[in-house]
Amino acid sequence: MKLIDGKAVSAKVLEECRGEVQALKDQGISPGLAVVLVGEDPASQVYVGSKVRTCEELGIYSRKIVLSVDTTEDELLEVVRELNADSTINGILVQSPLPSQIDEAAIVRAIDPAKDVDGFHPENVAKLTLEDPTGFVACTPAGCMRLLAEYDIDTAGKEVVVVGRSMIVGKPMALLLVAKGADATVTIAHSRTKDLAAVCRRADIIIAAVGRPEMVTKEFVKPGAVVIDVGVNRVDDASKKRGYRLTGDVAFDEVAELSEAITPVPGGVGPMTIAMLMKNTLQAARQQCS
Ligand code: NDP
Repeated sequence: MKLIDGKAVSAKVLEECRGEVQALKDQGISPGLAVVLVGEDPASQVYVGSKVRTCEELGIYSRKIVLSVDTTEDELLEVVRELNADSTINGILVQSPLPSQIDEAAIVRAIDPAKDVDGFHPENVAKLTLEDPTGFVACTPAGCMRLLAEYDIDTAGKEVVVVGRSMIVGKPMALLLVAKGADATVTIAHSRTKDLAAVCRRADIIIAAVGRPEMVTKEFVKPGAVVIDVGVNRVDDASKKRGYRLTGDVAFDEVAELSEAITPVPGGVGPMTIAMLMKNTLQAARQQCS
């Protein structure tokens, strides 16, 4: 069993980004990312903090905008419009989840697609479908593809089962895998899939993006399969100081015994998401300045 080390691969991606930042600065271009946080969700605060910190480490200008939990949709739309018009900002990210009074889809649609470094705007989703490389690809699935590439895991002609059909992970993941060049045969499974374990057992590669702790057990996995675990779940654990531990969607120990290669949680897909966000921000800066 090979452990797919997301920390090491993300460090490599960030090193590439460092070089790209320098190359842009040599051309007089200073890339900038705005991160908008509404409310005080603790997990969101951690994510936003590490995105801003990673920008700082790479020399990318970052602006963190924190708004109160009772911000209205109109107020947030106004912030997005200002960032769309701000030439020092190349990428805009509005941290999800948003409070219930705000329609998340309306906010995503308001972001200038040229600055939509999350890759959630309909125009970028369309470009992904069209295999147009000028679009932005959602960071987590892009990170999974990079992990597969770094470990020379060929996807061409392979049976891949993606468990989960969200617009953030499952669907863009499936589109990337089925695209020309990746050439996988893809099944997208979800909560209405019948006999999920049997469907997954067909897979040479399983991508688990469900949000259910350790749901993918050894009964789901064909010996020799590759398993990419996107899930990040908090499970109560009194033995931990913070009262919980993080676990993926895969029952790691028993699945690792069977699999050819597997990502751990934490330290697998998670670190790749931020690294790919940095890549997207630099792509945005390049495209806006060319
Ligand atoms: P969503 O809740 O949006 O989607 C979950 C998907 O899983 C849905 O399509 C749902 O099906 C499906 N599902 C739920 N229960 C079952 C089941 N019992 N059997 C089969 N399918 C099921 O989650 P996300 O896609 O946003 O995230 C998935 C996981 O990935 C979460 O743990 C999240 O924390 C993690 N994540 C990690 C990131 C990282 O950087 N590592 C980034 C983003 C997410 P249906 O559509 O039918 O409801």
